[in-house]
Amino acid sequence: MGLEEKLPSGFLLTTVEKLAGYMRSNSLWPATFGLACCAIEMMAIGSAQKYDVSRFGMEVFRASPRQADLMIVAGRVSQKMAPVVRQIYDQMSEPKWVLSMGACASSGGMFNNYAIVQGVDHIIPVDIYLPGCPPRPEMLLDAILKLHEQIKDTKLGVNRKKVITEVEKAALASLPTHQIPVFQGKGE
Ligand code: SF4
Repeated sequence: MGLEEKLPSGFLLTTVEKLAGYMRSNSLWPATFGLACCAIEMMAIGSAQKYDVSRFGMEVFRASPRQADLMIVAGRVSQKMAPVVRQIYDQMSEPKWVLSMGACASSGGMFNNYAIVQGVDHIIPVDIYLPGCPPRPEMLLDAILKLHEQIKDTKLGVNRKKVITEVEKAALASLPTHQIPVFQGKGE
């Protein structure tokens, strides 16, 4: 009789997932990457004097996407930058997470025009959205801590890939903000 027969169903995998999630959530390395004014607030969280993100195991913003596993999309994404954002995302190491920071990154914000992507989730899967224009550094820290909670529950291996594929598919199928009926005054 093996050990697995004495343990409750899924006990070992659950424990490994929890352990991996705990370690991953406390050792995130963000990519050095900013697109517009929100990036100034993002930079502030690195300030050791006041916000000191290193308390959460994130003291190094990596200059290479290959050494980063968190992309903070800080600012509006222009159509011209969209392929670059996607390329940086593709180059980041797995598993990776995306935080959409501010109204512009999440929905195009006030830039409802042909030059700006109406939500970065049209080009990469987003794990957490942070509202505001711009969100304050405290709000970003709060979003990061909430992302930590998500990471602790992250599935491993093929299950993680399945989740990403589903999120990406749903995002690509979603309507741009200006085409959503409720924003056209047509009700839900
Ligand atoms: S949400 Fe506001 S602060 Fe952030 S990029 Fe857009 S305009 Fe700038």
